Amino acid sequence: MKKEDCIFCKIANGEIPSATLYEDENFRVILDLGPASKGHALILPKEHSANLYELPDETAAKALILAKKIISRMTRALGCDGYNIVQNNGEAAGQTVHHFHMHLIPRYQGDQVGLGWQVGELTDADKNEILEKFQSTED
Ligand code: 5GP
Ligand code: ZN
Repeated sequence: MKKEDCIFCKIANGEIPSATLYEDENFRVILDLGPASKGHALILPKEHSANLYELPDETAAKALILAKKIISRMTRALGCDGYNIVQNNGEAAGQTVHHFHMHLIPRYQGDQVGLGWQVGELTDADKNEILEKFQSTED
């Protein structure tokens, strides 16, 4: 399904032009308009899912295989030194466009891309609570 008024549905399906690196029947891979680094790209499924929770398993599997293919080619093309794959779900996690996408972010030695976090501590209380709560949920 496509979603009316979803910008990534329109880009993925070619209704809005984009700098396209790759396209097949399921996906379009485009350059991000606000790149974190040179070569920052987005994998967009052509069918609409708001986030990973909604994404069909088959598409999820294909997306990771495609990510591997694109970052391998881009590494050869750009000579970057590493890659981050980032995928945000929900506003609290930084998602601004609510059509599932994967960020492919090339990394260059010494670059200033900020994807870090402050390292916390896993307390015994948290560990026990999380393990117990997780085990009590259904798959
Ligand atoms: P999010 O924060 O939802 O994970 O990421 C959304 C990403 O989409 C951002 O990195 C933003 O720069 C990019 N973006 C938003 N609108 C457009 C657009 O119209 N074209 C392209 N190429 N990228 C977009
Ligand atoms: Zn969409």
